[in-house]
Amino acid sequence: MQFGSVAFFKVLIKTVLCIVFFVPLVLCVVFAVLLWNKSAEVKDIQQDNERLEYYAAILSGEREPTVKGFYDVYARSGLSDEELIEYVLHGKDESQPAANMSGDTSADSSASSGSSGNSALQTVDTTEAASSAESEADATAETNQPTQPESPYADIYPDMMVNAPAESDYVRELGTVYLTFDDGPSDNTYSILSYLEQYNVKATFFVVPNRSEGCYAKLKAIAAAGHSIGVHSASHVYTDIYSSVEAYLDDFHEAWDIIYDATGIKTEIFRFPGGSVNDFNTETRDKIIQEMTRRGFRYYDWNVESGDVDGATWTDMYNSIPSDIANCYRSIVLMHDSNSTPNTVLVLGDVLHVLVSDGYKFDKINNDTRPVQFTGPFA
Ligand SMILES: [Zn+2]
Repeated sequence: MQFGSVAFFKVLIKTVLCIVFFVPLVLCVVFAVLLWNKSAEVKDIQQDNERLEYYAAILSGEREPTVKGFYDVYARSGLSDEELIEYVLHGKDESQPAANMSGDTSADSSASSGSSGNSALQTVDTTEAASSAESEADATAETNQPTQPESPYADIYPDMMVNAPAESDYVRELGTVYLTFDDGPSDNTYSILSYLEQYNVKATFFVVPNRSEGCYAKLKAIAAAGHSIGVHSASHVYTDIYSSVEAYLDDFHEAWDIIYDATGIKTEIFRFPGGSVNDFNTETRDKIIQEMTRRGFRYYDWNVESGDVDGATWTDMYNSIPSDIANCYRSIVLMHDSNSTPNTVLVLGDVLHVLVSDGYKFDKINNDTRPVQFTGPFA
């Protein structure tokens, strides 16, 4: 092949074509494959992060662990059955969801207060051998037996005491939905009652009562329909009620007494305004909880939020409430019986229709209903 010959130019053209078309094409394919791999990797990392956040939320008590979630953790842990049992027993301090799912919450709490043990036996021994003062403090905080030391608040409303059931008698049923309505009675109370009656559902009202005739009538109607009534607050003014244990007791007593006056019920359940963990009770929370539990009262937070106070629309609630309930082992649903949350009444019948069709059981909260508490055991 001579330089400048026809054959030479043929080869030259082929070479140029090859460089212009095929090399970029090959490079494109290579880059596409690399990019695809990279995006799969990023997606994996994202999923992992989401899962980690999910489990962090469970560990911190913000979320309910689900059975599916537990098996997901189990599957991802790569542990054998024996190793998992070891992990649950020995790693109790770090494995709240697993420990709680085994229903061993009291042991869990005392275990975490004991000094670190390398085996379950050691942990138990440590707890048992702990100084009597420490054990007593634990008993006071965790089981609230009447045998505890005298409370500094014992002289305040000494009759405001109820009998708490033993924790072993707590009811915790899979799939049960506990609808709760805070802040009532309101102009919406009778509408809410009529929807509940229509679907034959019992619910719980954490009320903010006053001594007006209208309020008494509504409290009576709630009780007569067979729903639970619990104390929410008399004033619902965070800065007042959380300023001291005494202030909390004053407010609580007023609401408790109105409920008793109107219905003859000495209610044993309550819900803290703003939930048990809020920005206003950081200083007083522990003392208030300790004193209220000493008196036998049980408080209930929630694990499903309707969002009605945050301006959720009909569509928001119609979509979110059933799907959030589906993600919980059992659900305590926060809704409001308030003039400022009219959407709750508008959506209630439709949400009930969906939930009843889905086969959920409903119940009201009694003091033997195992609580959902932001700082306490999982549902
Ligand atoms: Zn409230």
